[in-house]
Amino acid sequence: MFAQFALHERLLKAVAELNFDEPTPVQVAAIPPALEGRDLRVIAQTGSGKTAAFLLPLLNGLMGDPQPRVRIRALILLPTRELAQQTLKEVERFSQFTFIKSSLVTGGEDFKVQAAVLRKVPDILIATPGRLIEHLDGGKLDLSEVEVLVLDEADRMLDMGFSDDVQRIIGCCDKRRQTLLFSATSGGAALREMVAQVLRDPLHLRLNAVGELSEGVRQQIITADDTAHKERLVAWLLANETYRKAIVFTNTRAQAERLSGLLIAREFKVFVLHGEKDQKDRKLAIERLRQGAVKILVATDVAARGLDVEGLDLVINFDMPRSGDDYVHRVGRTGRAGAEGLAVSLICHTDWNLMSSVERYLKQQFERRVIKELKGSYSGPKKVKASGKAAGTKKKKLDKKTDKAKPAAKRKPTARRPKGDAPAPLVSQDGLAPLKRRTREE
Ligand code: AMP
Repeated sequence: MFAQFALHERLLKAVAELNFDEPTPVQVAAIPPALEGRDLRVIAQTGSGKTAAFLLPLLNGLMGDPQPRVRIRALILLPTRELAQQTLKEVERFSQFTFIKSSLVTGGEDFKVQAAVLRKVPDILIATPGRLIEHLDGGKLDLSEVEVLVLDEADRMLDMGFSDDVQRIIGCCDKRRQTLLFSATSGGAALREMVAQVLRDPLHLRLNAVGELSEGVRQQIITADDTAHKERLVAWLLANETYRKAIVFTNTRAQAERLSGLLIAREFKVFVLHGEKDQKDRKLAIERLRQGAVKILVATDVAARGLDVEGLDLVINFDMPRSGDDYVHRVGRTGRAGAEGLAVSLICHTDWNLMSSVERYLKQQFERRVIKELKGSYSGPKKVKASGKAAGTKKKKLDKKTDKAKPAAKRKPTARRPKGDAPAPLVSQDGLAPLKRRTREE
């Protein structure tokens, strides 16, 4: 029950309006200390309800002590435009019964229009770092009275090279502010340094860390001979799976374009989303998917972060993402807020090692799936013949009833957890370092 939190009744009214019955674990853990004004460093899975976990206490603070609106009082920094737009929507939903005003400043939108919006001084500013710096350089933006600073997806902001911008922005905010830092992963040395520098005696909360994707999501792989084979597999899955909405992820823009062209030629209704698309097209693609006018999005990782589309229940990895974190961010688009989902990764010989490392990272084995009509010749690296003893152990794993190997997904993980890393939810210090990261921060 949300009534357990000491939240203003207008916020509780909004929560009820949104049909949020029970708070999620991250909300239970983060809302009370945030309401007390503590700095927080939270590791929480995408889709865990973390936005409300920081927004509700933030809004509550702004309501408790009404002041004439002369300065920006809260700043929420995020890595991507999509995530910023989504967060603005959440702020508007939660503040619908209040007088709190919020605005958005991101790249890809008209600078002058934004400057005019800033002159009206919103209570809450939601921004991406690059564009915010441009406004600071313009000399018209005053952040010196920011009481609450939220750094959302802080790991991603650093991965994207925003470290200097973020540091500079933080330096412009009131030193007495409350800071709430959220990330999906424990991050590298750069993030640890930021936590040490920016937060004051923070409470560390770790909930559903990376590697603990929503349990309602089945994760499968299908082996493929080459790109053309993958394309046939995607078309088959989109035609034969039962789903409400789907995203197909590719590693490159060129592949996203090519694949969407092929799918359109096969009369699928598809939108394509990647970094080269202009802001208008990106917005339109997400809006159409949300409304259900289009069921399928072909996208690069730009879309993976933070995209929250209701009813997204199929994720296809055309290429294996380059790191375990990226895999979690892609697959985390489905199974949000406890819903069911399916994630299928297409694996040809160049994806195999990446796939194995992601399995080790997640400490689980993906279910192997074969589509009879499209069975290829590649099925993974040739197995080394097992020695007598090991072969004997293997036999014991056969299912007595069917005499078939037990489904891979049900096998217990064998990889060892790093010391001190217990299953979430729990409250602890950082511990889990990704096996493979695209950018090294140490
Ligand atoms: P987030 O992790 O903040 O992106 O949230 C994921 C989705 O869960 C969003 O669509 C939220 O609106 C929804 N959500 C967050 N908290 C709750 C809750 N307590 N009950 C139901 N849905 C929720």
